[in-house]
Amino acid sequence: MKYFESAISTPIVSSAAFAYENSQEGEDIFAGKSPKPLYSRMGNPTSSVLEEKLSQMEGGIGAVTTSSGMGAITMSIMSLCSSGDEIISVGGLFGGSYALMTQTLPRFGIATRFLSCDEIASIESNITDKTKIIFCESIGNPNLRLPNLQMIGEIASKYGIAFIVDNTISPIVVKPFEYGADIVIYSTTKIISGNSSALGGVAIFKKVEENDKFHNSRYQFLKPFINKLQGKALIGCAKKRAMRDFGMSANANSSYQTLLGLETLPLRLQQINNSCEIVATFLEKNGIKVNHPSLLKHPDNQLYKERYSAGVGSMITIDMGTKEKAFTFLDSSKLCILTANIGDSRTLALHMGSTIYSDFTQEQKEFLGITSGLIRVSIGLEDPKFICDDLLESYRLSDLKI
Ligand SMILES: *Cc1c(COP(=O)(O)O)cnc(C)c1O
Repeated sequence: MKYFESAISTPIVSSAAFAYENSQEGEDIFAGKSPKPLYSRMGNPTSSVLEEKLSQMEGGIGAVTTSSGMGAITMSIMSLCSSGDEIISVGGLFGGSYALMTQTLPRFGIATRFLSCDEIASIESNITDKTKIIFCESIGNPNLRLPNLQMIGEIASKYGIAFIVDNTISPIVVKPFEYGADIVIYSTTKIISGNSSALGGVAIFKKVEENDKFHNSRYQFLKPFINKLQGKALIGCAKKRAMRDFGMSANANSSYQTLLGLETLPLRLQQINNSCEIVATFLEKNGIKVNHPSLLKHPDNQLYKERYSAGVGSMITIDMGTKEKAFTFLDSSKLCILTANIGDSRTLALHMGSTIYSDFTQEQKEFLGITSGLIRVSIGLEDPKFICDDLLESYRLSDLKI
């Protein structure tokens, strides 16, 4: 054991279960009176190290790691909502989250109202007694819209509604707690781990303060958690009302790999953010229909310049006009790995309409900004000049062939 304590790389504790010294300790662990591990579905020592670091990074009171980003979103929603409750979702939405809210949650009686980034003024009129969550992505994947987090946070606080922000695309630069978020979610699969080696997610929680929104009758079910855990009530609620029963728990191996990624996150993010602006500007100059908030024509360019000028993560999109052109573009690229992932060290790309969004109706695709020629590119750590050259060459080839 003593060698584990001096290891400077976090030990991978892959044990599913943990021995209690005696029956009394068993009782104490189950009652939350002892911090020792209970059983890995409820918390694992390797994952706990990751939770501590992510929580510090974000400025939360604690975090719960999960098996995937969708696991973190599901855990957060299922811990706060019951049948009959409502969610308000603002802005662009990742395909998995949109499917969860349009196809799966309704089967459990949880309805979602969807508003675009330009409909923030309508949030208030959509709030009812049943609204439990206002949800948004800080940077819409893949529509790249930037909802005004400040304004949404103010409305959430005025009406006393939990505000959940999926900040997967842009950790560090965007700090949702500063805008009044209560839970910040990441798919750590993406830029946090950074090389497509570990599926994972996390929900990071704000401290529940005395007499804040979570003491309202809207969140009556939180009372026992507040009585027992005070500031950490949301964590206990997530674990007992969702994690324990749905079992979307993180595993030690993924958490270890995510810890390795986290060590280099600021450096990678800086380089990728820088390259995104270079590539987007270069492609636009060459007459390619590219989308990124750093471009003047982007509807949220002003907000980008004011708040997120350091960059908003690895994503740009290119509209090739038709599916055929998009396919030829992708098949011509020597650089891009064609895959349904983002935030990797290597440049990744994918046609949206035929893959992640293929299940959705035309109307849904329109709402999410999925046009028939839309390609999502996740810029990697390669020399930006090399990325520019490859994308331009692929564009020229697709223009020649069709
Ligand atoms: C990928 C992604 C998710 C889902 O994460 P998984 O780890 O794949 O489950 C959620 N939100 C956003 C914004 C994503 O990009």
